[in-house]
Amino acid sequence: MTSRRTLARTLESVADFEEPDPALEQYLTPPEVTAHVLHFAALRGDLDRRVVDLGTGTGTLAIGAAVLGADVVGVDVDASALARARENRRAVGAPPIEWVRADVGFLPLLADGVTVVSNPPFGAQRRGADRPFLEAAAELAAVSYTIHNEGSRTFVESFAADHGGAVSHAFRATFELDRRFQFHEESSRTIEAEVFRIEWGRSDP
Ligand code: SAH
Repeated sequence: MTSRRTLARTLESVADFEEPDPALEQYLTPPEVTAHVLHFAALRGDLDRRVVDLGTGTGTLAIGAAVLGADVVGVDVDASALARARENRRAVGAPPIEWVRADVGFLPLLADGVTVVSNPPFGAQRRGADRPFLEAAAELAAVSYTIHNEGSRTFVESFAADHGGAVSHAFRATFELDRRFQFHEESSRTIEAEVFRIEWGRSDP
């Protein structure tokens, strides 16, 4: 299997959003974080299922999963992000990916019993913006990996429990983000995020 370090290096050529939309909380997940999550998922056999990347943005999680051999669908509401994701997929030379433009709150049927991977909006602009992503994961997934802001554990655990699931793993991830929106005063900043693996209590298809 591609090593975590090689995967991170491959994902360095994934381009960021051209004009990030603050309302959609568009941030590129750093290559090391993507590689960490996906490598962990591969070791657990979670990339043997179909992978659905919710809020794929410029495609890094989808592309990384495809590089690791998964059958991948990337979903985003923003057509310009998806256009860039397509270019990124080609630039990386990853296997084909199915790109779907949709709002996660109104998803077309994308098959059941999948692995969801997602770095959703953290809800900094609109509280609870990550909730429809968890709801979609609860609908679709056998297992999901979602990235949330620090301090989300209680919320994620109780959400999972209310939907027949349980958090099996939780780990931290540090994001170094360049200054991007005008309301950010520093030139770069560090965000402590938390990654959760949830088992949704559904048997594999
Ligand atoms: N997954 C990418 C992008 C994270 S930013 C990465 O890890 O780099 C969050 C993404 O969610 C953005 O691309 C944004 O366009 C998308 N998004 C926000 N709200 C959405 C919604 N309701 N439905 C689908 N996508 C959404």
